[in-house]
Amino acid sequence: MAQCTDRVIGKILAGWRYDISGLAPEMRGDYEAHLAECELCHSRQRLHRGIDIGLMALASISMFVFLLAYGVIRHFKPSHAFLLEIGALGGFLLSMLLWLLVAVATPAPLVVKDVALFGARRGLEKLPEEIRDRIPEELKLKISGQS
Ligand SMILES: [Zn+2]
Repeated sequence: MAQCTDRVIGKILAGWRYDISGLAPEMRGDYEAHLAECELCHSRQRLHRGIDIGLMALASISMFVFLLAYGVIRHFKPSHAFLLEIGALGGFLLSMLLWLLVAVATPAPLVVKDVALFGARRGLEKLPEEIRDRIPEELKLKISGQS
C-alpha cells in the first residue's frame, strides 16, 4: 500500500472525510494538489465518495420498498391494516430522512452531477452533426461546463 506523502495534510483530509468541496476555491489549492499527487489519499477519497453514493442508493431502494409495502397493504387491506400502513409510512419517512442526511452531509450529489455531466458530454460528442446542431446553444454550453 502506498504511503501518504504529507501526513499533516493527509490527517486534515481524513478528518473531512476527503471532502474539500465545501472549501473556498482559494483555500482548496494545497489539498487539491495533495489529492492529485498522493495515491493513498486519492484512493481513500474515492472510497468515501463510493460509500456516500452507496448509502444514498440503499436509502432510495429502502424508500421504494416501504412505499411498495404501503401500496400492497392499501390494496389487499389485511387485518390491522392501519398499523401496517403507519409502519410502512414510518419506514418510508425514515429512509427519506437518511437519504437527506447523506445528501446534505456529503458531497455525493456533486459527484453524481459531475458524472452525469461527463456522460452527457461524451454523448454529445458522439451525436451526428445534424442532431447536434439542433440542441440549443445554451444547453451545449452548460454540458461542456463553459457557463
Ligand atoms: Zn496523502
